[in-house]
Amino acid sequence: MSIKEELLHYHSPGNRYAYYPSAKSWKKSKPDAPFSFKGQASLYIHLPFCENLCTFCGCNIRISKRAEDHLDYIKALKAEWELLKASPQSGAFIEELKAHPLESLIFGGGTPSVLHPLAQEELLKFLQSELPHGIKDGLTEASPQSFTQEFQALCHELGIKRFSFGVQDFNEDITANVNRHQSLTDIERALSLLTPSDQAGIDLIWGLPHQKRETMREWRRPLKDYPLHWVSFYPLAKVGWLETYQNAFGDFTLPELPEKYALFEEGVDALTEANFEHFAFGHFISKDGGLFQAFKEKHLSRYVCGLFPHSLGDMVGLGVGALSHIGDYHTQNVKILDKYLHTLNTKGHSPLIKTHKMSEEEISFRGYIRDAVQRGILKADKISLFSPKEQELWFIPKADFLEISPYGRFFLKNILQRLEGK
Ligand code: SF4
Repeated sequence: MSIKEELLHYHSPGNRYAYYPSAKSWKKSKPDAPFSFKGQASLYIHLPFCENLCTFCGCNIRISKRAEDHLDYIKALKAEWELLKASPQSGAFIEELKAHPLESLIFGGGTPSVLHPLAQEELLKFLQSELPHGIKDGLTEASPQSFTQEFQALCHELGIKRFSFGVQDFNEDITANVNRHQSLTDIERALSLLTPSDQAGIDLIWGLPHQKRETMREWRRPLKDYPLHWVSFYPLAKVGWLETYQNAFGDFTLPELPEKYALFEEGVDALTEANFEHFAFGHFISKDGGLFQAFKEKHLSRYVCGLFPHSLGDMVGLGVGALSHIGDYHTQNVKILDKYLHTLNTKGHSPLIKTHKMSEEEISFRGYIRDAVQRGILKADKISLFSPKEQELWFIPKADFLEISPYGRFFLKNILQRLEGK
């Protein structure tokens, strides 16, 4: 069977284990002790503003370029941070975080690069005063159209040198059909602004309306020619609450599942030909880029918006809908922007809506996920969960563990689901 047929055979709903357990299965709990700092922490800041609504998008966004909106949002971020510092739960943790260099600073969105220059200035001042020891590594999402030298300079001042561009498809008609008006010239202009010490990656989607194997063959040249360190190749996610207006800007007829997997196969061929290696869950890394060493040394890790050459430690999330993962706790902020702003800027209250304490079982399963995704290994005694054919194709037996084969890495979700008893 081809990889397309195999993936179709193993197709299943379920998440991509970017964090565990997924927010849907969290149980409301109250923290029973203050968070303790374990020496490594990262900060994620959600910046929700975009210039246009891409009709496939399921992110938490607001279409606005107005300085007032952006400044109001930065004000709320600062208020949220002050509340975290003052909270008996997180205060000591945040003070420790501030006393160390941050493992990583991440801007996700939305489109962080559309942030108004006045809001960029405010954000810079805030982060420089609150992170006196700087950062070890940083990543921001950006769009090729809105990426400017000014935004890049802000990132450099903070120490962010990795840029993840939302491209989705190189064919202009396909992106225009989902209300994303970008050209190869936009992408090339954005990449040309990067300095030799910067690293760039892009997001691409398989399963967009009108994508065909033939249109995806156009990907081969840019994938080979552009100086990319990674490519995140995602399936188009079905976003139920968007369906009512997805046809508003263009035809949103989706390919059937077999056709969708054919598109995936075409993308994998193009990426392989351009010297990329599949890491996990559609994340590909260039064998010529800086992340490949981390991959070989088995300390490449991933977060919802990208790959990192080291572990991120605990993650503090700031902003609307942001998630934090600290020790054995997950928390989530209110997901509606107006509520987030009102809660912080008018009432002065915390925007937290949910806290989940992981059970012993969940903590142990999180270890399996880290082993499988980051280190590409599984405990040897788990082999009996898999059929003889799966054992042969997905694993390479070692003395006292199982290594997940390059082919098996395409089936990581199935492997983890099997471990989880699903
Ligand atoms: S630019 Fe990105 S975040 Fe904004 S609407 Fe488009 S896909 Fe969504």
